[in-house]
Amino acid sequence: MEIKITKGDITKIKCDAIVNAANNSLLGGGGVDGAIHRAAGPELLKECRTLGGCATGDAKITKGYQLPAKYVIHTVGPVYYDGEHNEANLLKSCYQRCLTLASQYHCSHIAFPSISTGAYRYPTSEAAKVAIETIQEYAKDNHDIQCVEIVCFDDYTYQTYQKLIKE
Ligand code: ADP
Repeated sequence: MEIKITKGDITKIKCDAIVNAANNSLLGGGGVDGAIHRAAGPELLKECRTLGGCATGDAKITKGYQLPAKYVIHTVGPVYYDGEHNEANLLKSCYQRCLTLASQYHCSHIAFPSISTGAYRYPTSEAAKVAIETIQEYAKDNHDIQCVEIVCFDDYTYQTYQKLIKE
């Protein structure tokens, strides 16, 4: 599996599935969630209404509608308090659940945003460590996903993930 760190807008990525950093309602929000709903069109919200929300650390899949991606995998990252409220395990679980769903739906190229590091205030360098370790761990036993792209929206996030992947 190739892990690629790129900079840009995840709604523009043409791949099998993009991941949405959603909230528990799955009914839309700000940040990457708002951008994905705007780009996908109102059909996405309609499908999300049928899902009954999503627990923190879990993930649910929908179609991509007007997005270039075929599917959207909606996951709910933890809100960061102090690092002692199970944040790392919950964030790890987000990546694991998304990768498992991507495998089940035969996705070979998937794109993640930096989950929880925006409105949910997870420190970027800690979140990046969890993200990369969990993806690498998954790749050891699973060979169906060929490319995982982490799409960073700003320079700081991009540099932080880049630094880790080079280590
Ligand atoms: P969370 O609530 O999980 O923290 P946010 O959407 O607030 O989710 O932020 C998660 C990350 O997604 C942040 O680094 C933010 O800058 C980034 N982001 C916002 N819009 C986009 C986009 N269109 N494409 C990729 N990443 C984005």
